[in-house]
Amino acid sequence: MSHQKLMLAQNVAWASETRMRDPDFFKRIAEGQQPDTLWISCADSRVPAEKITHSSSGELFVHRNIANLIAAEDINAIGVIEYAVKVLKVSHIIVCGHYQCGGVMASMRPPNPDIPAVNQHIAQLRRLALRHQDELAALPTVELRADRLAELNVLDQIDTLSQLPIVLQAQHSISLHGWIFGLNDGLLRVLYPGKPAETEPVKGYMQT
Ligand SMILES: [Zn+2]
Repeated sequence: MSHQKLMLAQNVAWASETRMRDPDFFKRIAEGQQPDTLWISCADSRVPAEKITHSSSGELFVHRNIANLIAAEDINAIGVIEYAVKVLKVSHIIVCGHYQCGGVMASMRPPNPDIPAVNQHIAQLRRLALRHQDELAALPTVELRADRLAELNVLDQIDTLSQLPIVLQAQHSISLHGWIFGLNDGLLRVLYPGKPAETEPVKGYMQT
């Protein structure tokens, strides 16, 4: 059986199991969504938002792209943030990076001419690495440098979010959270604790 056929069969099983466990589930979710959290993470197949946080349908409004990046000119990411803040009125935005991120690692190598759109997308990571070149160069391996850059990237995206007019001019309080996911242990670490967007610019990170 192809993976796609298996996926469709598993969907039928999931719908049936869900209905048995919670007969009103689909009636409830069909009525609309009221998530209180916007989740922004990497498109990496190993970082599924709902699965790693045991969240249910309707709980997370999700945007994923390579290396969980936000840029003012990225109409896709900005559109998601705009809808989440202005229409869904989410109270929390979580930026979740992950260690061993392919997008981050690609930004530490010369651009690959076969993937020009990706090169353009991750250009901001190259600039970020340059800004932190002394700290990164002091780390002994390329893997550690990439993981630290992944952490710095989460903080940089929180900084970007905290300066977005959509967030700054929101009519309700929004807390920003910076997390990072470990592929080796399946655990999330807090790099930036939830704080209202109007607080001081991001400076450091907190390990838990
Ligand atoms: Zn990634």
